[in-house]
Amino acid sequence: MRLVPSWPRSIDDFRPMVSNTAINELQKLAWRLQGLKVLHINATEYGGGVAELLLTQVPLMDDLGLQAHWAVIDADEAFFEITKSVHNAFQGNKDIKWDSTMEEHYFETLRGNLDSMPTGYDVVIVHDPQPMALPVLLGERRKEVGKHWIWRCHIDCADPHPDVWGFVRQFLEPYDAMVFTMKEFVQPDVPADRVLVSAPSIDPTSPKNSALEAVTVQDICRQYHIDVRRPFITQVSRFDPWKDPHGVVRAYQIVKEKFPDVQLLLAGSLAHDDPEGMGIFNEIVSSCTDDRDVYVVSNLQQVGNTTINCFQRAADVVIQKSLREGFGLTVSEAAWKGKPVIGGRAGGITLQIEDGRTGFLVDSVEECAARTIELLEDPERSRTMGETGRELVREQFLTTRELTDWVSLFADVAGS
Ligand code: UDP
Repeated sequence: MRLVPSWPRSIDDFRPMVSNTAINELQKLAWRLQGLKVLHINATEYGGGVAELLLTQVPLMDDLGLQAHWAVIDADEAFFEITKSVHNAFQGNKDIKWDSTMEEHYFETLRGNLDSMPTGYDVVIVHDPQPMALPVLLGERRKEVGKHWIWRCHIDCADPHPDVWGFVRQFLEPYDAMVFTMKEFVQPDVPADRVLVSAPSIDPTSPKNSALEAVTVQDICRQYHIDVRRPFITQVSRFDPWKDPHGVVRAYQIVKEKFPDVQLLLAGSLAHDDPEGMGIFNEIVSSCTDDRDVYVVSNLQQVGNTTINCFQRAADVVIQKSLREGFGLTVSEAAWKGKPVIGGRAGGITLQIEDGRTGFLVDSVEECAARTIELLEDPERSRTMGETGRELVREQFLTTRELTDWVSLFADVAGS
């Protein structure tokens, strides 16, 4: 296990976007917990939503007077293949073949992390299934690492594979609290008195989400050969079957019959803990080679946070056509930029899109295409929806709200 370095951030940077009252309340809550030592543990420091959240929240917890650290587990590719199966099984894939060899490699990898775990924390937050068994494996040594343990599940686990859920269910016991994004994700055998429902959030001050000059947006898009004068739609997501990138391409092809000059960009970071990514990336690239208006890019093409910010700002419509979704930070990211979002009617996306007011929830490729056409035909309606969506994000999905949930939970589990 290794610690991830962080750099200083200030909660005061949020004052232009969030009410002073909300920030003062947060500071007041945190004041009671000065010096509380908090450790976050997850699987990767790069790629995907959890890394995105921790990058912001760990230094802000420090700024609020806590002592927050972030550690990632050491694991090999076979481990991430197994935990991606767990992820897929959580999201409802019932075809996963789960066996004892997978269980053994999962345990062996986590056991290999025990001796390098930092110690002396008040609260340890374990994110998602990859490191979930750590407190069970630590046994009595658990208290040396942390006095209180919280499991944060970011995945849509409303309908999990029963064998895989049965396997992970046994790891819940040592946790003082479990945090889920929606109440629908809480399985009936999870102890209800230890559950908190809290949605993730985006950082409006980060390079991914902060305001940019129009000229910067145009320049960066030009570097990727995107013509901002022509209709432009995008989906920003890992290359993962649940994000349905093939469905997005099919929807785009229908839109193209009506808008022949429309362009599509699929941008996806190839996350360290997501071994499926490269295969799907290659599949999409080869299925679109004949169409010069489809751009498929990733961190391999130097697509970083500011570039994603530009793509989301340049788009006329942002799509997040997931079939299952824990939350989908990309929805709030796009709405914050004043974009109407078309999202699959799945998990956390339904929290973030008010159907018909801030975008549309869709159930099929055809519906996704029809709604995209509707928005491209009516820029004024798109603008109004985008503005309404931005206010929804301001109220519910900015970092300060999530930090308030965290600090309140720390006060509950660690007491005064
Ligand atoms: N992301 C990125 N570059 C990409 C694709 C995605 O930085 O090429 C970011 C995206 O902007 C978002 C995060 O990765 O902040 C993905 O989080 P989300 O909750 O949408 O999905 P997850 O990957 O966690 O399933």
